[in-house]
This record gives sequence, structure tokens and C-alpha cells, in this order.
Amino acid sequence: MAEKRDYYEVLGVQKNATAQEIKSAYRKMALKYHPDRNPGDKEAEEKFKEAAEAYSVLSDEQKRQQYDQFGFNGPTGGGFGGFGGFGGGASMDMNDIFSMFGDIFGGGGFGGGGYRGFDGSGQRVSKGRNLRLKVKLTLEEAAKGCSKKFSIKKQVTCPDCHGSGSADGKTETCSHCGGSGMVIKTVNSMFGRMQTQTTCPHCNGEGKIIKNKCSHCGGEGVISGQETVEVNIPAGVDTGMVVTIQGKGDAGRRNGIAGDIQLHIEIEPHKDFVREDKNLIYNLLLDFPTAALGGTVEIPTLDGKAKIKIEPGTQPGKVMRLRGKGLPAVQGYGYGYGDIIVHISIYVPENINSEERKLIEKMQASESFKPNKSIKEKIFQRFKSLFD
Ligand SMILES: [Zn+2]
Ligand SMILES: [Zn+2]
Repeated sequence: MAEKRDYYEVLGVQKNATAQEIKSAYRKMALKYHPDRNPGDKEAEEKFKEAAEAYSVLSDEQKRQQYDQFGFNGPTGGGFGGFGGFGGGASMDMNDIFSMFGDIFGGGGFGGGGYRGFDGSGQRVSKGRNLRLKVKLTLEEAAKGCSKKFSIKKQVTCPDCHGSGSADGKTETCSHCGGSGMVIKTVNSMFGRMQTQTTCPHCNGEGKIIKNKCSHCGGEGVISGQETVEVNIPAGVDTGMVVTIQGKGDAGRRNGIAGDIQLHIEIEPHKDFVREDKNLIYNLLLDFPTAALGGTVEIPTLDGKAKIKIEPGTQPGKVMRLRGKGLPAVQGYGYGYGDIIVHISIYVPENINSEERKLIEKMQASESFKPNKSIKEKIFQRFKSLFD
């Protein structure tokens, strides 16, 4: 077992820290290292547990005294009870921690909208819902990035009380919890005495009571409204990606934290290109004479036309690249700009007049228009390489 760190050191507070300082330091740690915010991060989980353990001791006056005097093992060597004694190497189960702190993040558990956080002063605040929006972009918009305006129905700050929820602007400290928003319950269980913190039922965890509620919003501080939101969508986004615009979702209850807008991106099909991550695939349908004689052809790009050179005797299936003419890379699409990948196919005329027919029959009679053995071998090798 790793050497245990001093509880004060864990929370980053002085030995003479006040109860409020300890609580506030712990809240910051709990928020920062909360498993819901750091999914799969073992180190964060350890830090979270460590902080929870430190807090469960330092927040209890009696345990703190014992810890100050005797260290980790307590006066009787039996540890601190509660979570089964910290000295004995017992580790806390994550579920215990969840049941202990689940309430901090709102009764609804983890994830999803409406969870609660803390503002800078450690006061409990509500977070507004995140809003999901679908946005369709053209390939050109996705390539360059763009700005979009949306008119969104959402919860907005009440204009009458400016979000406080109070008609006269006054709030009173909740006498039940002394403004902390939490009450500590001690429960006897088969694991010993367990202390759980729960939301103060009188103030709903806010620490404040509003006597004279704003009549416009009913004390909520938010009302249903509409807002025009302008968002910048970064270049390179693709279908299925989500762009988060922080703080533009529902306003938080009583001047809480606003939720986010989550833009779900969908790229419209393009008339010329098929997109493959940061690359654009273009099918160049070459006329037979140009493929045979060579020449220069124009192909579209996302910013104007580009000319490419066709070698005499170009075969269908040939692939050419226009470097850097694709989209900028984002999220797992590598770095830099993608390419336009040109796949060459040859157009075989479908409708011909009698004169053209004679022309083609002449070609048919000529030996040069028939692939010989070595050409067949060469083209077969190229064909095979497509499956490697
Ligand atoms: Zn109001
Ligand atoms: Zn209260």
C-alpha cells in the first residue's frame, strides 16, 4: 500500500484551516476529480477517493482532533470507524462514495442535464440544461468553418428579478443548515457508523431561502424565452461530430451556471465530391481521345477549378492526388489538410451517329487498340494491387 498522504496536504489546506476552508477545498477537489468528469481516469479516481477520505475525517470535529493528536490510526488504533478504518488498509468502494456525494451533484445522479456544481465561493448552484441542436452544413461551409445563427427556445434569466428569484432582491441564510446547503446524517450500519451528507431539505441545498419570491418566475429566476445565438463552427467538422458551445444552453436556476449547446453536425451531400475524413474523392470521367492522347483537364475544388495534366495512354482506375486541396483535419483525422483524390474513369460513348460508328470500327480493326499480352499483365498487376 502506498504511503498515505497527510489529510491536510491532500486537501491543500493549512493545519489551522477553518471548517469552511476545508469544505470549500474539498468541494473543489471533488468537482475536479469526480469520476463523472474523468471517465476511465484511474488517477483522478484515486485523488477523488483520497480527498473524500481526508474530508470525512477533517470535517468531523472529533475525528479531526483525534487525527491531529494521533495521526492515521486514532487513539485506539482502530481507525476512524465510518468507512471501516483508514489505517487498516480498507479501501472505500466507489459506490459508497457515490452514495455519499451523489447528492452534491443533484438528486438526478451523474450525467445528463441539470446537475449541480459550485460557483467560485463554494456555494451550491444549479446548472441549466444542455440543449441539443442539429445543424446541416454544406461541404464548403464545413471546409472553411462558418458562423450560424439560431433562434432557440430556452430558459432565460428572469428580467424582473435578474435571475435571483427574489422580488425584493433579498435572500436569507437557511437556518436549518447554516447556509452550507448540506446536513450530515449519521447512520448505524453493519459497516459501522456511516456519515452521509444530504441536501438540506429546507433550502434544497442552496443555503439560502427566498421569502418574497419574484411573481414573474415564481422564484426560479428563469423563465421560458427565446434567444438568438450566433455560433462559430470550426473548419473541418464532419457528420456525427458534436460542437459544444459553452454557456449558451438553458440559464441556470437562480443565477446558476448556464448549460451548453451541443451542435450535432450533419454535412449535406455534395454534387462533385464524396468525403472520406479529410480527403475528397472525385471521379474524373475522361473522354477516350484525351485518355489516349493526353492533355490538360479542369477539375473542381472547394475553391475554384484546378488543372491537372493527363499523360498519353492514361488507363481507367488511375488515381491522382491534389495535395492539400481537401479539408483541414479535426478530431482523429490526422494533421494538416487532406487531398483531393482523383479516380479516373473513361467515358465510352453511348449514342453515336453512323460517321462516328465508322470511326470506331476503324479503331477496332487496328492492332494498337487491342491490349497485347504484356499490357494485360501490367493492368492485371495494378488491379491485383487494389486488393493488397
Ligand atoms: Zn423573476
Ligand atoms: Zn438549508
